[in-house]
Amino acid sequence: MSGAWAMEFLRLGVLALLGLTAGLVSGELAWSMAVAAAIALVFHLLQLYRLHHWIVNDEDRNNPPDAGGVWGELIDVLYRFGKRHRKRKERLARLLERFNEFTGAMPDANVVIGPQDDIRWMNEAAVSLLGLDQPADLGQRITNLIRYPGFVQFLRRGNYSETLEFPAPQREDVRLSVRVVPFGNNERLIAARDVSHFFRIERMRRDFVANVSHELRTPLTVLAGYLEAYIDMVEEMPAALRPSVGHMQGQTARMQQIVDDLLTLSRLDSENVIASDQEEVSVPGVVSTLREDAEALSGGRHEVVAEVDSGLLLRGEAKELHSAFSNLVSNAVRYTPDGGRIVLRWSAGPAGEARFEVSDSGIGIAPADIPRVTERFYRVDKDRSRATGGTGLGLAIVKHVLQRHGARLEVRSRLGKGSTFACVFPAGRVLRKVRRVGVG
Ligand code: ADP
Repeated sequence: MSGAWAMEFLRLGVLALLGLTAGLVSGELAWSMAVAAAIALVFHLLQLYRLHHWIVNDEDRNNPPDAGGVWGELIDVLYRFGKRHRKRKERLARLLERFNEFTGAMPDANVVIGPQDDIRWMNEAAVSLLGLDQPADLGQRITNLIRYPGFVQFLRRGNYSETLEFPAPQREDVRLSVRVVPFGNNERLIAARDVSHFFRIERMRRDFVANVSHELRTPLTVLAGYLEAYIDMVEEMPAALRPSVGHMQGQTARMQQIVDDLLTLSRLDSENVIASDQEEVSVPGVVSTLREDAEALSGGRHEVVAEVDSGLLLRGEAKELHSAFSNLVSNAVRYTPDGGRIVLRWSAGPAGEARFEVSDSGIGIAPADIPRVTERFYRVDKDRSRATGGTGLGLAIVKHVLQRHGARLEVRSRLGKGSTFACVFPAGRVLRKVRRVGVG
């Protein structure tokens, strides 16, 4: 038993003893015991009153009432508990203040949204960069406030390893790069960074490549024209010069092809990120043309087969898609030795997707090279690529065109066995007309 309780019982015992003695002396035992009980009750009520008064009055917080016994100990415990609680609250308030200072100083915009895309929190940069209003926009859906079409799709798609670039709302000169980080209970942090500087450098690089390519075009055309004329007069030339004319013509054609590919890439770069879906592209028609082109390019050295779902169409940009598919077909012919087989396939995939596939029985690609073949100027075997008129830009064009159509490129290949390049289009771009499957 603690000292306070012993003291309390002692106090009660003494009072009872006094009551008993007074009762025995006066002969009114009941009354004197009642008076002793009343004194004890009044004492405890008084202590209770002082405790209550101290707890409810904020000004007295640091002045606990004096009381002995159990009451004194109770008041002491409450006093220490309150002090600890106040200290913790102050520490938390200071932490919150520091957090607000820190998020306010951050140059990147940060917005926390809930499962319904509702805004729960934002920092100051979100106001200046994303054009949001604090606190008026709290609770609003972010998709109603940031209307860039790609942003809504990006948020819905849920592939948060990617970033999205778009012009800042209300500030066309600012380019933002946005990331989404899921956390907590179905919440997401949207972090937007001002990348205008990198964007401008990237645009300068793109413009430079486009301008150089453009400037080279005319002199190359002139050279090619003269070389054409020299070829006609080759018999009149000294014998030692004759082979060089053909060689120069071959190299000029190659340069023209590189310049054309670079111009195609910079055109794709400078257009909208997302290809229009207004045009209906008859892929079966495109595949049939590509098959004829492949046969012409092969000159009978390969077997070329097309398997086409003729009811399947695409929404996209016909010229771009034709150029991408044609690059795959030309690669299949160029990297397949004589006697090989090339299959062009256009078919419906799972979940409403559509696939354009080119399979060959050619030289194949080593696993380490597969992820790199879509890089600009990446060639597994430079000499072979050059010898067959390659520029190292074909698959970069394919990748770009597919990105603009929301599609992906799947590459399967085994060294010495052959390769399959598949362009997989999302259901949203696929159109279904009367279904018929033809094999040619
Ligand atoms: P290139 O003009 O050199 O063909 P691409 O960008 O079209 O450039 O292709 C890049 C590289 O990928 C090629 O140099 C080649 O090494 C490899 N490649 C592309 N398609 C095939 C294929 N069907 N079979 C084997 N290798 C291929």
